Amino acid sequence: MDQPDVRLERVTKQFGDVKAVDDLSLSFDRGGFVALLGPSGCGKTTTLRMIGGFEEPTAGTVYLGEQNVTGLPPYKREVNTVFQNYALFPHMNIFDNVAFGIRQRGASKHEVAKQVPDMLELVQLSGFEKRKPTQLSGGQAQRVALARALINKPRVLLLDEPLGALDLKLRKQMQIELKRIQTEVNITFIHVTHDQEEAMTMADRIAVMNQGQIEQIGPPVELYEQPRTAFVAGFLGVSNMVTATIEDGGHVRLADGSSVAVPADLLKDAPRQVRIGVRPEKARLLPASEPAEAGANRLSGTIRDVSYIGVSTQYIIDTPSGDELVAIVQNAGRGARHLLRGESVQLFWDPENTFVITDEGQVPTVEELI
Ligand code: ATP
Repeated sequence: MDQPDVRLERVTKQFGDVKAVDDLSLSFDRGGFVALLGPSGCGKTTTLRMIGGFEEPTAGTVYLGEQNVTGLPPYKREVNTVFQNYALFPHMNIFDNVAFGIRQRGASKHEVAKQVPDMLELVQLSGFEKRKPTQLSGGQAQRVALARALINKPRVLLLDEPLGALDLKLRKQMQIELKRIQTEVNITFIHVTHDQEEAMTMADRIAVMNQGQIEQIGPPVELYEQPRTAFVAGFLGVSNMVTATIEDGGHVRLADGSSVAVPADLLKDAPRQVRIGVRPEKARLLPASEPAEAGANRLSGTIRDVSYIGVSTQYIIDTPSGDELVAIVQNAGRGARHLLRGESVQLFWDPENTFVITDEGQVPTVEELI
């Protein structure tokens, strides 16, 4: 098994009374694209800065490959960072900005003349050599910042909200660009963001952080489809969650007495009391008068609110046990019949779409989601 590229071992960072990072252990495989995702103040930037050497842990160890780099200054680590504000040298042209790192390390004229154009081609800025940073758009400046970092062939590239200053359309383009560049150079990228969609678009693994700790780490599809904590379920989208008690044979019992089938592996090592959930778009909504779907899980309730949002219609449903459910129905056919407010309905979903929340935490607050 390959050595991880970056490993944090029981790392804590205390700023006065604030524990920004709390006994965090984490490792990143070589060549992966990992996003540290979480609300403002959860400790993601501090984690990144400790990997880069801009901040030292109060306790714990940081490894790059096999080397313990705790205490080493940034320039002695095989790491480069791209910041939100680009930090290009304003008096130098683009060629010299990109050449800076390898010239510092004594690269020959020949090497510089070969590598700088290669890097500019990688970020699709060939022909921009003579321009000054002020003559670039935000997206172009960020590409130069990337080229300037990648020319050093770092072991790890750290990206601190690199797209935060760009408008939405450009940000979306750059997300796809960044992913392409990462795949091409095959360097480990660690990317800090509070934007769920950005993390999902680019990363092959996401670490969701909350209050200085990792809540869950995994591929985007796993975090979305099988969140293990209420915070992760709520941070990555809308979810329906109801309390349940585990019974034998991959079933749980809900407060209304009904039984729900759950993938058995999700119940392993779970406490007796859990919450089960399903994403709103994975539920099917039918009038209460229709026959029950065989083999599907079921909850019943009354529609409290209907919102037509073009591509889909969102229903809020009150259940007898007091839980509020959300169902999102795609408007695939013209003039599809909509269920009405006050109508009694049943919500069906497939057992394999059920997730199980094993912690007692809360979903994020509205402030934490923006
Ligand atoms: P954001 O998305 O807002 O940048 P973040 O998740 O990156 O948030 P951090 O910047 O790592 O969070 O901060 C974590 C906590 O540590 C916050 O409560 C912050 O106020 C505190 N903190 C960070 N840097 C310092 C510092 N130099 N001195 C004191 N407190 C700090």
